[in-house]
Amino acid sequence: MKIFYSPEYAVDSDLETVSKSRVIARMISEGQVPGVELAPSKPASRNELLQVHDAAYVDSVLSGSIGRLAAGDWSPELLRSILFSTGGMRDAVLEALQSGCAGCLASGQHHAKRNRGFALCTINGIALAAIEALKHVRSVGVLDLDAHFGGGTFAILGSDERVHLSDVSVEDLDHWTPTDLSRHHRVEIKEPAKYLPAVRRALKRLESVDFLIYYAGMDPHENAGGIPGITTPMLQKRDRIVAAWCRNKRMPVIFAPAGGYTEQMSLEELATLHLDTVRAFAEAR
Ligand SMILES: [Zn+2]
Repeated sequence: MKIFYSPEYAVDSDLETVSKSRVIARMISEGQVPGVELAPSKPASRNELLQVHDAAYVDSVLSGSIGRLAAGDWSPELLRSILFSTGGMRDAVLEALQSGCAGCLASGQHHAKRNRGFALCTINGIALAAIEALKHVRSVGVLDLDAHFGGGTFAILGSDERVHLSDVSVEDLDHWTPTDLSRHHRVEIKEPAKYLPAVRRALKRLESVDFLIYYAGMDPHENAGGIPGITTPMLQKRDRIVAAWCRNKRMPVIFAPAGGYTEQMSLEELATLHLDTVRAFAEAR
């Protein structure tokens, strides 16, 4: 199983969103998950970004005239990180269409709107991956299990009848309102005992799609930015549920790490949580 990652993804920053991929990649390169290999990605092009963002916004990001990006002050390194990791989402889609499954160590995607970044997310690689997949399949599902809602993904893809969105959050940030109940499912969970049943229901809403994009946040975790009672074993089980669902349905799938913060854990511990997502999919194959 290929996990897309290039050294350009990671920048030196206090923000886990742009730094944690290096630690996850190191763990993979050490062979901590059997059957998994890192693969470099090609950066996203301007034309690819224009599939999901307005030209004025894209050009201000590319040129640096925007000054500040959602994930920090503009710099050539931060721009490269965003372009390479977004390109990894496209490459993961193409790989999953061949092999059935791929990952990409890109974070900071689902809040970005057409004309602006928001909450650490500059470019919406989830939307870009969906558009890429839709060049090859009829319908795409987005399973967003970040702690926060994916309002950016909804803003870009919500009106596309080929796209089904299923979004389980534990915190009301970047809220969106379903406009088509046959394709839009959004729920906020406040009690940990209801989390895994909500994940199962969210998957059920995606049964008719041909391709799945899984945005695997670790920020629901009680020590990574989430709510008390959502624990490591619970999130390990969550990812095994998603991976088994994909395997049983022979659903091509890509996954990406999403949120997860070092509020009450080290960067190593956080990366280990994200590595569990990789492990769940590797073991389900
Ligand atoms: Zn989040």
